Amino acid sequence: MAEVLIVGSMALDSVKTPFGEVERVVGGAAVYAATAASMLAPPRVVGVVGGDFPQEALDFLASRGSDLAGVERVEDGKSFFWSGVYDYALGERETLDTQLNVFGDFNPVLPESYSDSRYCFLANIQPQVQAAVLDQVSDTCFVMCDTMNLWIETEREALEGVLARVDLALLNDAEARQLADTPNLQLAAERIMAMGPRYLVIKKGEYGATLVTADDIFSIPAYPLPNVVDPTGAGDSFAGGMIGFLARQDDCGNMQLRKSMAFGTAIASAAVEDFSLAGLKQFGMPQVAERYNALRDMVRFDAMDHELAQICQSS
Ligand code: AMP
Repeated sequence: MAEVLIVGSMALDSVKTPFGEVERVVGGAAVYAATAASMLAPPRVVGVVGGDFPQEALDFLASRGSDLAGVERVEDGKSFFWSGVYDYALGERETLDTQLNVFGDFNPVLPESYSDSRYCFLANIQPQVQAAVLDQVSDTCFVMCDTMNLWIETEREALEGVLARVDLALLNDAEARQLADTPNLQLAAERIMAMGPRYLVIKKGEYGATLVTADDIFSIPAYPLPNVVDPTGAGDSFAGGMIGFLARQDDCGNMQLRKSMAFGTAIASAAVEDFSLAGLKQFGMPQVAERYNALRDMVRFDAMDHELAQICQSS
C-alpha cells in the first residue's frame, strides 16, 4: 500500500439544498477527498486553514489516518469560504460566494516526509497551488487533478500547465465542455487529453461517470439512492475513493482504474446522504463493499454472440 498526497481546499461551507440549509460547516475538496481516501490508504494532506477552522475536524482527519504535517494553520486568518445553493433536482448549483482568504497567498511547502509520495490527487484549488505541490514531489507514478469553472475562467493558462503534467483529469460534464470549448463530450475528451492527461474522467452527477482513455471508454452509473440531501463533496469523495484504491493496490492499470471508479462511486454515495462530512463519517468498509457489488451487478451483461447472430440473420 502507498500513501496518497492530497492538496486542495479546506473550507467552511454554507450550503442550501431543497432539504435543508447549513452555515459554515466543514468542507473543502481536500477534506472530502482525504476522508474518502483514508478508507483505503493513508492520505498526506496539504492545505491551509484559518483560526476559525474547527480543531475537531483536523482531529477527525488525523483519527482516520490522515497525516496533517502539510496543513498550515494561520491563527489570525480566515479559512477558505464557499457558499452555494442547489436546484430542486440537485443537478445544478449556483455559487453565491467564494472567499479564498488564507488560500489567497498560500505557498505550500511540503514536509520532507511527503517528498516520496507516488500517488497524488490535486483536488480543486488555484492551479498555481496545485503546480507548486507537484514541483515538490519527484517520484510520482500517478497524478490526478480536478478543477472548477472558476479556475477555467480565471486561470486557464496555469490550469493548462497543470493538465500537461497529470496522468488523469477529473471534470464534470459542464467543465469539460467549457474547457474544451465544445458541446460534444467525446470531442471535449479528445481535446482535453491532447492537453496532457492520458486519462479523463467526466463526472455526470446522478448519471454517473465516464472514463476515457486513448482506446477505451468505461461508464459507471451513480449508486441509486432514495435519500440525497446535499451533493457537495460528491466529486471530491469520488476522486478520493479512486486514488485511495489505486494507492492501496499500488497499481493503476486500466482494470484497476475501472474498479477504482466503482469504489469512488460507492464512497461518494455516502457523502451525499447528509451535509458536510456526516454521511462519510458513518460509512464503513462493509457498506462500501455492499455498494461496490451492487454497482457491479448493475453494469454486468452477457455477451450473446450466438443469439446476436440469429437476430441479425432473421432481420
Ligand atoms: P464538489 O461538490 O465535489 O465540487 O466540491 C465541493 C467543495 O469544493 C466544497 O466543500 C467547497 O468548499 C469546495 N470549493 C468550492 N469552490 C471551490 C474553488 N473555487 N476552489 C476550491 N474548492 C472549492
